[in-house]
Amino acid sequence: MAHVITIANQKGGVGKTTTSINLATYLAKMGSRVLVVDLDPQANATSGLGIDKRTLKATVQHALSESRYAEDALLQTDFDNLMLLPASPELAVAEIELVQELGREQRLKQALSKLSFDYIIVDSPPALGLLTVNALTAASHVLIPVQSEFYALEGLSQLLDTIQRVRQALNPNLDLLGILMTMHDPRTSLSSDVHAQVKQHFPGKVFDVVIPRNVRLAEAPSHGVPISEHDRWSKGARSYKKLAKQVDSRIKKNT
Ligand code: ATP
Ligand code: MG
Repeated sequence: MAHVITIANQKGGVGKTTTSINLATYLAKMGSRVLVVDLDPQANATSGLGIDKRTLKATVQHALSESRYAEDALLQTDFDNLMLLPASPELAVAEIELVQELGREQRLKQALSKLSFDYIIVDSPPALGLLTVNALTAASHVLIPVQSEFYALEGLSQLLDTIQRVRQALNPNLDLLGILMTMHDPRTSLSSDVHAQVKQHFPGKVFDVVIPRNVRLAEAPSHGVPISEHDRWSKGARSYKKLAKQVDSRIKKNT
């Protein structure tokens, strides 16, 4: 069975997609067979991996409507060991239609159960709606990126509440893999203060590796490539590589 890691935070722009793409790429480089699932109608993970969303025939919404379509919608990316279940903006409509359906929270879980990978990384949208609930229900682990800013902790309790409700009703084994500090600026004491504060709230759960604010990370998606291809010696690249190692060893230690 694949380890399914959902990247979630209902706050927008905290680094979910950047983390999904780059964590997935480095896990793939380490030799695992990896799938990225784009579960966000913005389809940023899809374009960030160099796929033109206008050319897609099948997408993740087909897999949500009928799990047997999951395999048909898979795309090989230009990067070794890395496949994509892409999204398109119509996923927003699919989410509304899904509300009426039976077993609506388990659709992604069912679709993914047909696939064979070592790791599946699910990028989720900035909301706590049905798509994110599907992403949490399908997951064995959840990783929460938190932006190093003053309001970092705001909204986290609501997210943790949702995770707890999903555990109780749908997915008792869902594990909080860790909290990842993103867009850290080592020149400001604010970033360090926020890091310390988050650590205090979540003892033992904050990754040692911190993702710095790094313009190379922001540039890479416009070229449709992960940071490992855009600038593998950048600070951003080295941090995501470290994260992949920490994630892999945390997961393997517990299985
Ligand atoms: P959304 O909630 O809209 O899906 P998100 O949580 O997926 O957003 P990203 O898209 O990963 O966030 O990042 C938001 C913006 O910040 C993007 O333009 C991205 O390129 C940039 N960015 C992400 N991480 C970093 C970083 N460490 N340093 C600099 N820029 C970054
Ligand atoms: Mg995103």
